[in-house]
Amino acid sequence: MLLSKLFIPITKDLPAEAKIKSHQLMLRTGMIRQSSAGIYSWLPLGFKIMKKIEQIVREEQNNVGAQEMLMPTIQSADIWKESGRYDDYGEEMLRISDRQKREMLYGPTNEEQITEIFRSSVKSYKLLPQIFYHIQWKFRDELRPRFGVMRCREFYMKDAYSFDLSENEAVLSYNKMFYAYLKTFQRLGLKSIPMKADTGPIGGDLSHEFIILADTGESKIFADKRIFDVPIDEYKNNESSLKKMRNDFSKFYAVTDDKFKTEDFNKNVKKEDQIQTKGIEVGHIFYFGDKYSKPMNCSVDTKDGKKTFVKMGSYGIGVSRLVAAIIEAKYLNEKMKWPKSVSPFDVVIIPSINKNDNSNIDKAKKVYKELKTNGIDVLLDDVEENISNKFKKHDLLGIPYQIIIGSKATKDQFEFKEIDKDSQMLDLNKIIKLLKN
Ligand code: ATP
Ligand code: MG
Repeated sequence: MLLSKLFIPITKDLPAEAKIKSHQLMLRTGMIRQSSAGIYSWLPLGFKIMKKIEQIVREEQNNVGAQEMLMPTIQSADIWKESGRYDDYGEEMLRISDRQKREMLYGPTNEEQITEIFRSSVKSYKLLPQIFYHIQWKFRDELRPRFGVMRCREFYMKDAYSFDLSENEAVLSYNKMFYAYLKTFQRLGLKSIPMKADTGPIGGDLSHEFIILADTGESKIFADKRIFDVPIDEYKNNESSLKKMRNDFSKFYAVTDDKFKTEDFNKNVKKEDQIQTKGIEVGHIFYFGDKYSKPMNCSVDTKDGKKTFVKMGSYGIGVSRLVAAIIEAKYLNEKMKWPKSVSPFDVVIIPSINKNDNSNIDKAKKVYKELKTNGIDVLLDDVEENISNKFKKHDLLGIPYQIIIGSKATKDQFEFKEIDKDSQMLDLNKIIKLLKN
């Protein structure tokens, strides 16, 4: 891609409400544009990053056997009346009526919808367990939308739902999702901590929030710092390893403020291991048994001819929130740095362009072609602009690798730089090898 052809509408005047770095940077680099309070358009750069995050989320869901599907954004109020949540959900739910005056709503979540699908097609224990997920827009009419896409009204979420015959089996589904979440956030370059959480309006009795540390986060967290050293690479997706994983994490105190009690904290965590800080909730998982299956009459026949309500869990990841969360976690010294896995481009070529001499831009175009042939997603900064302005712009854009083509470049050696590291002169084959790794 040529930078001159990429639509990045840089905003110079930031709105007063853009208080946190990620919101400011997303506006400045033209990743998003607000259309009304808490509702955003995703412009090409932001959309590309979000799609990369979505794909990693998808792969890790598939990896633990969850099946992708797609449910609509607009739901009928009837199923919410069955579960009893139509009244409970309150003003956060956007209620609409169609031309026949039927009550509809823009889904804030999908427990009712998936339960309705499941009960109408699954009658026997033989078809259990099942885990489904979809990645779909949600609407919650938040009282105070803020921090850009971090807390907005329309947002993109991965939500998964598990169906099991017994509580024991449901815990295995829960553990699989727990594992998929650790892997997902790790691939996104984030260190997430699973914290015991309140189950809130979803209800139920087992729940973890996955939190990443950031000063601008809205969740207050209290943890034993040793929880950061739990060796997540050692766990495998099998029952006993997953049990061990849950057990290893449960050894360390880690809660958000809803569950916090000073005396518990002091009793369970030595002073030198205590951390008290802020974080961003990027995922949340729940086990809630028959909270929905019972009122919605979702049961299966058991082996011995009886009926039982299925045991369910639900599991969310804020895909659009993650774009901002990654910025918050990675922004340092006025520089952005996307993790390789979600960077909008693998590398950017920055030639110093001189009006009277085409040699740098010619070299840059050759390198560009060669990288593309090798399947590398490369951005060429072909804009005629002062080189120091270019560097400032790329500090903002945060593509993790740069190839700088200026006076130092020779016929076959180029200045290769990883953000925050010293640059080195390398030949193109070496650069290609490095980028492909
Ligand atoms: P929060 O506590 O932040 O309000 P929640 O507990 O209501 O979130 P869940 O129902 O658990 O949210 O949703 C799953 C995930 O969706 C959250 O972990 C979060 O990453 C994301 N999410 C929830 N609400 C919003 C929002 N208003 N804007 C952006 N992302 C959101
Ligand atoms: Mg939550």
